Amino acid sequence: MRILVTGGAGFVGSHLIDRLMVEGHEVICLDNFYTGHKRNILKWLDHPYFELIRHDITEPIRLEVDQIYHLACPASPVHYQYNPVKTVKTSVMGTLNMLGLAKRVKARFLLASTSEIYGDPEVHPQTEDYRGSVNPIGIRSCYDEGKRIAETLSFDYHRQNDVDIRVARIFNTYGPRMLENDGRVVSNFVVQALRGNPLTVYGDGSQTRSFCYVSDLVEGLIRLMNNEHIGPVNLGNPDEYTILELATAVQQLVNPDAEIKFEPLPSDDPRRRRPDITRAKTWLSWEPTVPLQEGLTLTIEDFQARIQSQHPLEAS
Ligand code: NAD
Ligand code: UDP
Ligand code: UDP
Repeated sequence: MRILVTGGAGFVGSHLIDRLMVEGHEVICLDNFYTGHKRNILKWLDHPYFELIRHDITEPIRLEVDQIYHLACPASPVHYQYNPVKTVKTSVMGTLNMLGLAKRVKARFLLASTSEIYGDPEVHPQTEDYRGSVNPIGIRSCYDEGKRIAETLSFDYHRQNDVDIRVARIFNTYGPRMLENDGRVVSNFVVQALRGNPLTVYGDGSQTRSFCYVSDLVEGLIRLMNNEHIGPVNLGNPDEYTILELATAVQQLVNPDAEIKFEPLPSDDPRRRRPDITRAKTWLSWEPTVPLQEGLTLTIEDFQARIQSQHPLEAS
């Protein structure tokens, strides 16, 4: 099959491409390198079944493909808040263009949506039926509301134009190739511990998240794409940790003497988050298999190699 991965040079996209290439597909990676990097897909650049296109999805593009994994969008609060208007354009105009493309070539289209569409949830754990509690005018809105309209566009193209869609609601995912300056909590804590700096816990650290290792997520995305259910489907690890527990886990694995420093909680920071994955289990026979300690160890090894390397940008 010929498969388009938008945002393919990013963290999740590049791991997805590794799987698709190993399975023998033809892969087109489309990326504007805002947060993605060529080094993430370096090993495929000379492969005859691989093609890299530098393109911004807010502009139209014509391609011929069978499936589209639509991942292009900055995912870390630091990056999506850097240019919030651009984040909205990417989710709205970018998703519109990719749905227009899917419609024209009759490709199956998978949207990488997010648990952020639930906002600061009043329902716990979050099921797909929950409609969310999102602030439409806050600093996270460009991302949350952008993804909510991306879901709406996907379902409207499905109802109005018969586009064959899949919608994945992805919960916090971590693993090798996260950017050092990404700003997300796992990469921040690991880099801080490895560098001997204090771990920065925002607020009192009692807010919770559920962390999914990237290989588990990629498996879920591929299953959803190739299954008959359109979704939305939560994909995430249901093991819930407070941020302070995460800091302690990283501390234990890297440096038990590392300090923990408390900093102000950013506004609209969700208090609790944990996926109900009944749907993914029932529809896709999918559930995460990599426990936090194991995933953290693999992530720490990757960051350590990059930090120690003379060429720190040469990621695995
Ligand atoms: P990432 O920032 O590493 O990857 C996003 C990629 O999209 C980058 O390569 C970036 O350069 C590219 N991109 C951004 N804007 C673009 C544009 N206008 N045109 C073309 N390319 C563009 O993030 P990630 O963690 O790999 O996330 C991938 C997808 O999964 C995103 O859609 C994100 O919203 C979603 N998601 C991720 C998580 C997570 O925890 N990682 C959680 C929920 C949802
Ligand atoms: N589009 C694209 N590639 C294609 C087909 C469409 O980028 O192969 C874009 C197109 O330029 C438009 C958007 O997708 O901006 C929506 O396309 P659609 O055909 O649904 O709407 P229309 O072009 O009729 O407004
Ligand atoms: N966080 C933290 N220290 C950091 C980075 C993040 O305590 O150095 C907190 C953040 O306030 C949030 C949680 O960790 O409560 C997850 O943050 P992240 O940006 O990784 O993801 P998101 O908030 O989008 O789920």
